[in-house]
Amino acid sequence: MNGRSEKPKLAMYWASSCGGCEVSLLNIGEKILDVDRTYEIVFFPCLTDFKHEDVRGYPDGYIDLCLFNGAIRSSENEEMARLLRRKSRVLVAFGSCAHEGCVPALANLTSAEEIMDAVYRRSPATVNRQAILPGRLTRVPEGELELPAFFDTVQTLDQVERVDFYVPGCPPESPQVWGVLELLTAVFLDGAALPAPGSVIGANPAALCEECPLERRSRPVQRFYRPYEITPDTSTCLLEQGLVCLGPVTRGGCGALCPRTAMGCRGCYGPPDGVEDQGARMTAALAAATDAGSPQTGERALKEKVKETMGTVVDPAGTFYRFSMGHSLLKRARLRRDTGGKREKE
Ligand code: SF4
Ligand code: SF4
Repeated sequence: MNGRSEKPKLAMYWASSCGGCEVSLLNIGEKILDVDRTYEIVFFPCLTDFKHEDVRGYPDGYIDLCLFNGAIRSSENEEMARLLRRKSRVLVAFGSCAHEGCVPALANLTSAEEIMDAVYRRSPATVNRQAILPGRLTRVPEGELELPAFFDTVQTLDQVERVDFYVPGCPPESPQVWGVLELLTAVFLDGAALPAPGSVIGANPAALCEECPLERRSRPVQRFYRPYEITPDTSTCLLEQGLVCLGPVTRGGCGALCPRTAMGCRGCYGPPDGVEDQGARMTAALAAATDAGSPQTGERALKEKVKETMGTVVDPAGTFYRFSMGHSLLKRARLRRDTGGKREKE
């Protein structure tokens, strides 16, 4: 602790996220009572009625542990990231959105302008004959209402502020959440050493395949299927049956929850140690899994075969970068400003 005699202070904040991270914290069951006994909650918009003003009033470093979930997609998210960094001793990027950008960062394949147009003008469920878009400032009889700026590019927390630790997952699985709380509580209450700065905590360094019980038989793949197209054998590696499974390029820790139920891993724990770009590495892994023919197959025929098989993957960008676009080497599609923010390459 920081020399004070009272309980360590806990904050949890949601930026651009779905709320699943908060649910995963509550999913630790009755252990939530231990959290309440151990910590004083000083900011947790999902649970309690604290205001941003309360946080601004705290001295710097007042919050011992801040679990920050959500990506940075608006000026409000950015402002809160900066504020909570200043007020917190330990800032944790909690969950895939804060860690890797997650689904919100798939918006980096397009622009803020295109998103506004799709949502407020072209959506079949929207009636907006005057094609009005939300404005930053709106005058009402009582005064002026201000909305946060909607950024073109979604960022991860560490692209905006220094992060002490990362907890991966969409959302992090509850046993991991509890493990992280136990680890950090030992730091605050018993003086245990903090993990190395920048560590991923609550997950394993190796790939998910290492903890997957399905058997790999080195069967080459002829084509890839969507989950509804085949009924897989539940004892054999899904990738070898033509189901896209990101197990080879995803950090372990969840216990291979999805492959155990015959669903390919979507990659929510992000890349394991040593993998910089999850999508690029998965593209290579799929190409390696395809049927390359015999040693006599010519290079040209081989290239065509790999191309044909890879062509059966629906939505490669969304599939390979569903969780990691924000941290990928790509980060975002290039936009052509002279075409009103349309993508340069389809
Ligand atoms: S690719 Fe998927 S199904 Fe196959 S071993 Fe790895 S995690 Fe399991
Ligand atoms: S199997 Fe993959 S997608 Fe499923 S919970 Fe684990 S890391 Fe996430």
